[in-house]
Amino acid sequence: MEFTEKELTVYYKGKPQYKLNPGFIKQQEIKDIETIKELLLTHEDRCRIFEAMENTDDSVKLHVLAQEREHIEYRLQKVWGFPEDSNWHRWWEVPKCTCPKLDNYDNYPTKYRIINENCPVHGSLPKDSSIFRDILNFIKDIFSLKF
Ligand SMILES: [Zn+2]
Repeated sequence: MEFTEKELTVYYKGKPQYKLNPGFIKQQEIKDIETIKELLLTHEDRCRIFEAMENTDDSVKLHVLAQEREHIEYRLQKVWGFPEDSNWHRWWEVPKCTCPKLDNYDNYPTKYRIINENCPVHGSLPKDSSIFRDILNFIKDIFSLKF
């Protein structure tokens, strides 16, 4: 089954964002529209997370949203039929991240992550946020579960 341009386009708030990769659709032998719809919905969730990250400078919130984004990446891998593997997540491609982009591209796809300690998304949390740190660790535990 061939899908139309429109069927493969990710919309967010009524605006087209980008298109699902036709090469992946062929390679992964995706033939049913339900899988396509689930991919589009998951991408929409990713757009929602990005927007929330653009709209806050609160480091704790940014850390939590980055975890949710990781969760979305796992979900995308699962729906596409790829192995769920965090080495393939381009985790530094999020709003407000100040981790070294080129170094992380060079390491891609491996488990090695180069974190800028001052990155508001991935670096150390402010010292006065110990309660939030506990909450964040709790959320990390939940999202690292595979579904
Ligand atoms: Zn970062």
